[in-house]
Amino acid sequence: MSERGNEHETDTEPGGAVARLRQVRDAIARAEAEYGRPAGSVTLVAVSKTFGAEEIAPVLEAGQLVFGENRVQEAAGKWPGLKARFPGVELHLIGPLQSNKVREAAALFDVIETLDRESLAVALATERAKRGRLPRLLVQVNTGEEPQKAGVAPAEADAFLAACRERWELRVEGLMCIPPADEPPSPHFALLRAIAARNGLTTLSMGMSADYDAAIQLGATHVRVGSAIFGHRG
Ligand SMILES: *Cc1c(COP(=O)(O)O)cnc(C)c1O
Repeated sequence: MSERGNEHETDTEPGGAVARLRQVRDAIARAEAEYGRPAGSVTLVAVSKTFGAEEIAPVLEAGQLVFGENRVQEAAGKWPGLKARFPGVELHLIGPLQSNKVREAAALFDVIETLDRESLAVALATERAKRGRLPRLLVQVNTGEEPQKAGVAPAEADAFLAACRERWELRVEGLMCIPPADEPPSPHFALLRAIAARNGLTTLSMGMSADYDAAIQLGATHVRVGSAIFGHRG
């Protein structure tokens, strides 16, 4: 029982967010064992977009410290307060980043998973020159080459990663993808893994509520799970 008593009763009861968090954690541990991945090698990024601080707090209290948000403005409204209450939070930006929001994003997020174009790389390098630090960076790859989706095209990924390293001196830790909604995800996960391997990158952010098991099988180091924890978004 938390000191807060029944304040978050609906979130801790069976079927609430905390119960679902535990189910997702158990499923990740089972997948690690099943696919020969070391225990604890897959980080759960709990995607809290659209949910308010009062819905996120019980999940933090249950020990989940890594979260994902897809809009800078929305995250800026709720996370400074939550970070003050829960030291050790690691916040990931998983949605598109406009260059004019780089300063705000760099101040709030610990990881930016959506570096995907030259103008953003330049803005990040400029921000680092001014502040001396940057969040950790992943490059988003548009594995399905969908015109409406952000991300570097697979054929351009190697050149973009080389430019990040050599032209802008940005240290990229890994890759992220969002497979097309209407296709089996595994070929996209395998493609992301192949691009990472040939570029010497070890971090792979792939897999969401519906497909994180397949992503873990194919090497995900980070899975981004929203609705399976917080429920359906309104
Ligand atoms: C919303 C979102 C997720 C989580 O999706 P669920 O299906 O709710 O798990 C993961 N990744 C990105 C980039 C998202 O925008």
